Amino acid sequence: MTSLLEVSGVSVSFDGFRAINNLSFRIGPAELRAVIGPNGAGKTTFMDIVTGKTRADSGTVRWGEKGLSLTGLSEARIAREGVGRKFQKPTVFEDQSVETNLLMALKNRRGPFAALIWRPKPAEMERMRELAGTIGLSAHLARKAGELSHGQKQWLEIGMLLAQEPKLLLVDEPAAGMTPAEREKTTEILVEAAKTRAVVVVEHDMEFVRRLNCRVTVLHEGSVLAEGSLDHVTSNKDVIDVYLGR
Ligand code: ADP
Repeated sequence: MTSLLEVSGVSVSFDGFRAINNLSFRIGPAELRAVIGPNGAGKTTFMDIVTGKTRADSGTVRWGEKGLSLTGLSEARIAREGVGRKFQKPTVFEDQSVETNLLMALKNRRGPFAALIWRPKPAEMERMRELAGTIGLSAHLARKAGELSHGQKQWLEIGMLLAQEPKLLLVDEPAAGMTPAEREKTTEILVEAAKTRAVVVVEHDMEFVRRLNCRVTVLHEGSVLAEGSLDHVTSNKDVIDVYLGR
């Protein structure tokens, strides 16, 4: 399998405590992956390492066909390489319309100065509408983002991230606080997004993970404890012991 991202033997300590311990992880270019694990397993730190927020003490993080080393690159540079990250709390522009939010996200690709003088071209309007369709907000283009439901805001932010055409999208607990119908739609959006890019979903909700129907990586104490289908990992004795606190 060709890898888009290849993390090899990465360790990180905070004040002598090993949050990430010889972690190896790889993901293909158009793959959907769920990352699960109990609190403190290292899921957030893993994402921080990939995005450059936290530096690895040892090991390598390689990116793309050429195996570019992400270790030591700035967060901004890593984002430019095509790593997008969705935090739990949506950060949309509440007093702007859905359309403007999406257009601004498209604008960001063109740099801060261009954003001041930029007028959307027909192709950009078309891309904006396409994104709105992907995130299920075509009928809400004129609504202010602040008036959207929690789920719709999360989708809008996913749309804004997709506008930047990431090659890898890291998503932190996208279904938290959503209604069952919203979760269903979120599944659809992520599955669709993963057709043309890699998507890594950190999630606690096993029902949601089941619906994603993808390969699952279980982290524990900063390492990979198990990997495979959800049924495979949840029947693994080590995983059961960890989840039951044995
Ligand atoms: P998860 O996201 O799986 O809950 P984290 O990556 O947040 O796990 O944390 C892994 C471990 O590293 C935890 O024990 C946490 O307390 C510790 N940790 C994370 N970040 C820091 C930090 N900045 N300083 C000290 N300890 C940290």
